[in-house]
Amino acid sequence: MGFNALGLSKPILTAIAAKGYDKPSPIQEKAIPAVLSGKDVMAAAQTGTGKTAGFTLPILELLAKGQRVHSNHVRALVLTPTRELAAQVSESIATYGQHLSLSSTVVFGGVKINPQMMKLRKGVDILVATPGRLLDLHNQNAVKFSELEILVLDEADRMLDMGFIRDIKKIIALLPKQRQNLLFSATFSPDIRALAKDLVNQPVEISVNPQNSTAKTVKQSVIPTDKKKKAKLLSFLIKENNWQQVLVFCKTKHGANRLTRDLEAQGLNAAAIHGNKSQGARTKALANFKSGDVRVLVATDIAARGLDIDQLPQVVNFELPNVSEDYVHRIGRTGRAGADGFAVSLVCADEHKLLQDIEYVIQQHIERKIETGFEPANELPPSRAIRPLKAKKPKKAKKPKQGKVEHKDGQRSAENSRGHKPKSKNPRHQGQTARQGKGKQKGSSTRKDNSGTSKQDPYSATR
Ligand code: ADP
Ligand code: MG
Repeated sequence: MGFNALGLSKPILTAIAAKGYDKPSPIQEKAIPAVLSGKDVMAAAQTGTGKTAGFTLPILELLAKGQRVHSNHVRALVLTPTRELAAQVSESIATYGQHLSLSSTVVFGGVKINPQMMKLRKGVDILVATPGRLLDLHNQNAVKFSELEILVLDEADRMLDMGFIRDIKKIIALLPKQRQNLLFSATFSPDIRALAKDLVNQPVEISVNPQNSTAKTVKQSVIPTDKKKKAKLLSFLIKENNWQQVLVFCKTKHGANRLTRDLEAQGLNAAAIHGNKSQGARTKALANFKSGDVRVLVATDIAARGLDIDQLPQVVNFELPNVSEDYVHRIGRTGRAGADGFAVSLVCADEHKLLQDIEYVIQQHIERKIETGFEPANELPPSRAIRPLKAKKPKKAKKPKQGKVEHKDGQRSAENSRGHKPKSKNPRHQGQTARQGKGKQKGSSTRKDNSGTSKQDPYSATR
C-alpha cells in the first residue's frame, strides 16, 4: 500500500515523496486513517517505527481544512517528554507541512521564555511543547486553549517514567472538553492504560508488535571493569571477537566524540551520531555503518531513538543509561525479528546502582564475565536479589514529618515551627527553619545532583 491510499492530499504526499518514503510503515498505515476519521486514537509501536508521521501527517491534513487560528491560540498541541523530541517532532511538522500554509512552533524549558511568547502572539496551528514550559507560558497568558481541536501525547510511556503525570493532568484540565485525543507510546503498560482512561474516549486502539521486555533472542552480559579501562577493553573486544558491525551507547555527546577518537586511534573505523551532529552528518554516518564502511557507530540514546538497522548483531553499553528503560530500548536494537543478538555492558563500580535498577526493570540478573587483563581494581559489588515489579505511582510531594497542622504545600505554620524546632547544628539557624519542610517537587526536576541514580533530567543538555 502506498501513502496515496490513506486519504492524504497532494501537498502532503509531495512532501512525503521528497523525504524519500515510498510506503507507510505498519503503524502509519493504521494510524493515519484512524486519526483522519476524527476519533481518539491510542497507538503503540516500538521506537523507530515512524510514529511521528503517524500523527503529524493526518493532523496537518485535518487542520488544513479548518479555520485560521486567533492570536495566542493553538489548534493542535503535541506534548513530548524531552526538548530533543519536541524539536524533532517540530522539524517533522515543518517538513511534512512545507506546502501547506499552516503555522507551527516549538517551546521547551531551559531557554529564554520571551522569544517563545513572541512566537505565540500571532497564534499557531500546531504547538509542540514540553509540559513544564507549556504551563509556564499558560500562566503568563501567552497561550490559550479555547480553540484547541487536537491533543497528542507523544512517547506517553516516557512522560510517565519521567514523572510528568501531574503536569499532564494540569494541562488536560485546561483544555476544552470537546477535542480529539491521540496517545502514542512504545508500549501499553498498565500506567498508560490508567492515564488513557481519563483521556481518550472510545479510542481506536492500534498496536504493532508491542514489546517491552527484552527480546528473548538477545544474549546479555556485563563485563565488570574500571572506567578508565573501558576504551581499551572495547577495542580489544571488537578485535578479539571480530565484530564487524557494532553499535555502542554513550551517555553524553562529549563522551561519544571522545570514544570515537579513541577507537579511530586503535585503527577501528568509527563514527559518532548525536544531537550536535548535523542531519547530513548523521545520515552519512548511518549509511556508512549500514554499508559496512564504518564498523563502530557510537550513539547517544536520543540520537539512537530513530535508528532502524536490520539485524544488528552486536550492541555495547559503554556506559549504562540513567533511565533503566533506555537499556531496554538500546538492546532492542539487536536480536530483531528472531535473529540472535548480543548486548554487552561495560560496567564500573560507580554504575552499580544503575545496574541494579536495570536488573529490576528487566526482572533478571545479567550474567557477569570478567575479561582477563581488564579486571576492575574497584570491585563491582554483587547485585541484590530481584524484587517484584511494582506499578509506578505518580510522584508525590514529600510531606513534612513533623507538625500538628498539615499544610498542603508542605510549609509549616509559624506557630508550629515555634512549638517544635528541628535540631540544627548552627544555633543561628534555629527559628529560620519554617521553610525546611518545603518539599514540593516538580516532576520535571527530580535530579539528584551527581549521584547519577535518579531519572534523567528532561532538559539535560548532555544527551
Ligand atoms: P518513532 O516515533 O516510532 O520512534 P520516528 O517517527 O521518529 O519513530 O521515525 C523513525 C525514523 O523513521 C525517522 O528517521 C523517520 O524519518 C523514518 N521514517 C518514518 N516513516 C517512514 C517511512 N514511511 N518510510 C521510511 N522512513 C520513515
Ligand atoms: Mg517518537
